[in-house]
Amino acid sequence: MIKEVAIVSGKGGTGKSTITLGLASLLKDKAVFVDADVDAPDMYIVMEPELLKKEDFEGPRFPVYIPDKCSGCGLCEQNCRFDAIKIVDMKPVFNEFKCDACGVCWRVCPFDAIEVRRDISGELYISRSRFGPFVHARLFPGRENSGKLVSRLRVVAKAVADDAKKDLIILDGPPGVGCPVISTITGVSLTVGIVEPTLSGIHDIIRVYELSTFFNIPFTIVINKSNINPDMVQRIKEFASENGIKILGEIPFSRRIVEALLQRKTIIEGDVEHGIKEELKRIWNGIQSMLSLTAL
Ligand code: SF4
Ligand code: SF4
Repeated sequence: MIKEVAIVSGKGGTGKSTITLGLASLLKDKAVFVDADVDAPDMYIVMEPELLKKEDFEGPRFPVYIPDKCSGCGLCEQNCRFDAIKIVDMKPVFNEFKCDACGVCWRVCPFDAIEVRRDISGELYISRSRFGPFVHARLFPGRENSGKLVSRLRVVAKAVADDAKKDLIILDGPPGVGCPVISTITGVSLTVGIVEPTLSGIHDIIRVYELSTFFNIPFTIVINKSNINPDMVQRIKEFASENGIKILGEIPFSRRIVEALLQRKTIIEGDVEHGIKEELKRIWNGIQSMLSLTAL
């Protein structure tokens, strides 16, 4: 059975991708990696993917009005629950900002005067990266439905894992606790929350923990930039202890990690301080041991 691990944080910039990339180079070809941050994907910069397959992601379908066919009967206006249509001079005027793309208007129109506009909102990619199978996507600027795109990514990633005979998928999740994060963690075997020791970092990790708990998913923590504020690290540890959450490891802030990433290298590949690579390996061992406890 394929297991999925979601790496998440309550906001961007906590080092989630840095740690996921480190795991990708550590595991090299043993798992399928997924960049589920479809609004701002960045793993590809270091993964250096070679594109194997691309698919369009279809967003909501909006109505397109065909004036020649319209009788001005007003049925579309009467049936639009979102108040997105107003009949003016016997013609419907559509308000795109109010339209929910529900499809009622083109179904009720007796004269086929409303057609469907299919909107391509993004692209999904299956690639071969230098660390193995890689599934990623890009939502076009200003488009919505990132949660739906993440769900599609996970379906595709499972098919890729099946084909490649991998039993592990690791997802680099989007920031926050909104719809795309819910799509990322629903049904996974384990959620790993990356937290930095700041007041807002603690606040964010509590929200992610509550979300994960709500979906009944085992939760664990990695503290990133652990050397920047010992008091806050202590508070994170107290929060973890009070809630029975295991802390898998701590990665300190290091200029050498930043320099490695600028050279498109992971923690494992970079010239980083002694002990950091070993800590990442310990984190991986911790993930493995938690996965072995989750139901098959
Ligand atoms: S698709 Fe739905 S919300 Fe949009 S205009 Fe038609 S009826 Fe209204
Ligand atoms: S339901 Fe069709 S025919 Fe009637 S006003 Fe709307 S677009 Fe025109």
